[in-house]
Amino acid sequence: MPEDIFDIVVIGGGPGGYVAAIRAAQLGMKVAVVEKRNNLGGVCLNEGCIPSKALLDSSELFTVAKEKFVSHGIKAAGLEFDLAKMMARKDQIVRKLTEGISFLLKKNKVIRFTGSGKLAGPRGDGLQVVAVTSPDSPGIPRLINGRHILLATGSEPVELPFLPFDGQTVVSSREALAFAEVPEHLLVVGGGYIGLELGSVWNRLGAKVTVVEMLPHILPNTDRQVADALAHILKKQGMYFLMESSVTGVDIEEGTTLVTVQTGDSTEELSCDRVLVAVGRKPFAANLGLAEAGIDLDEKGRVAVDKNYETAADGIYAIGDLIAGPMLAHKAMEEGVACVERLAGHASQVDYEFIPGVVYTWPEAASVGKTEEELKEANIAYSAGRFSFAANGRARCMEETDGFVKILARKDTGKVLGVHVVGPRASEMIAEAVTVISYGGSAQDIALTFHAHPTLSEAMKEAALDVEGRAIHV
Ligand code: FAD
Ligand code: NAD
Repeated sequence: MPEDIFDIVVIGGGPGGYVAAIRAAQLGMKVAVVEKRNNLGGVCLNEGCIPSKALLDSSELFTVAKEKFVSHGIKAAGLEFDLAKMMARKDQIVRKLTEGISFLLKKNKVIRFTGSGKLAGPRGDGLQVVAVTSPDSPGIPRLINGRHILLATGSEPVELPFLPFDGQTVVSSREALAFAEVPEHLLVVGGGYIGLELGSVWNRLGAKVTVVEMLPHILPNTDRQVADALAHILKKQGMYFLMESSVTGVDIEEGTTLVTVQTGDSTEELSCDRVLVAVGRKPFAANLGLAEAGIDLDEKGRVAVDKNYETAADGIYAIGDLIAGPMLAHKAMEEGVACVERLAGHASQVDYEFIPGVVYTWPEAASVGKTEEELKEANIAYSAGRFSFAANGRARCMEETDGFVKILARKDTGKVLGVHVVGPRASEMIAEAVTVISYGGSAQDIALTFHAHPTLSEAMKEAALDVEGRAIHV
């Protein structure tokens, strides 16, 4: 059927896939998206970025009302929260946003197929076939054809062999975003993005939260000073950390869960009611027909691609969590755009060196570029400028004085190499640093630029001044 021939068939409707589809349609291509979920938006919108931030925002407001109103002279007696309503609000946000993606695809005339897509081989006339199995007709796949196929099937949580997910007691982030009750004691395995964000949500709502982390520091790839400062602040907020520790087993009996944790030579048993395993995610490459298509996976199970995102099979491309690089929504989106723009003959590129990372705890931690540890390791001579939020007027007004901005710049030219922030709204502040570093700017460029007063962003300017030892407000 002629309507089933597309310029590009995208398998996976997450941030990588749906953004690629819209951009391809803007470029005049006839596009199909195959997504097995009912909702578009992938992990990010359905069970990742968006629901986690919705709960972080709700639980933060509750904590502000409970702990911070009083010093502002605001009385709020009898403060309570309604968890069911908080969850319903989160679900409503997800619904609105995923419906929004459906609308955008329709607006751009992208055809959506609901079902699992699998590569079904080349036809021999330059077209690749994708078999779509829909839940409504499980035995009879629908065949659609594409001049190009884009694989954007994302990732899934890593499961620990001695701590298998059961969906009830030992859970992944999916279930931890939807607990019907606040756990008494939530044990979190992994002090990375998910452990700290979802640990924060439940800690704020009254759970005892213990994070068991294998390494000596949380957030292993983050600048050490930022990670250590954040760990210190989260401890003040009541979270417990067992560092250089591993969970070695779990005993689940009716009503009690005992988790065995090993730290060095000592072993202890911790009683808890839920275990969130957040030790990383792995690419989701199952049932795609990759081996039959001659597409290789690397040692971490990621689809191997060249610089144009093309796999070993002609005309088949891959992006996002499925391939190498940080598993972040904005990275997946940029790859989707670059991939289809190159198919259309544009010279688009993705600046892998300057992908920002944000941990949405309170305060937030945000980074771009090299960490101090990486610069030392690479023997690059650098100057560091640092400015504390305690000396920032706006942060004082907000009573949010924990944290700092740190700028790392080349010693000879002042060119910005890395910016690391732990502090209020670090997620928004990092955008300035991403722009400057992407354009090859220097600390002086930041220092010479107006920053409105009084704003948190003045801490960025002061840190830039401090690179040359001339910060004003220290
Ligand atoms: P995905 O979003 O995983 O989408 C892949 C889609 O493909 C899925 O919808 C899946 O159903 C579909 N699919 C898979 N196989 C098939 C098939 N055979 N046929 C049809 N469809 C298929 N990143 C950030 O940048 N910021 C954040 O704040 C953030 N928070 C997160 C919080 C949590 C709790 C989690 C788990 C992740 C978070 N992430 C965040 C990471 C982010 O969600 C991912 O990096 C991003 O979703 C990757 O996009 P993607 O398009 O590659 O894949
Ligand atoms: P992560 O890679 O961020 O952190 C995993 C942590 O678990 C690490 O600190 C690691 O040392 C530790 N670990 C590994 N094995 C362990 C073990 N056996 N025992 C104890 N600790 C162990 O992974 P995550 O938190 O599961 O998140 C997965 C990915 O999702 C992230 O890497 C990120 O790409 C993405 N994500 C991003 C955001 C965001 O952008 N704000 C939020 C959530 C998730």
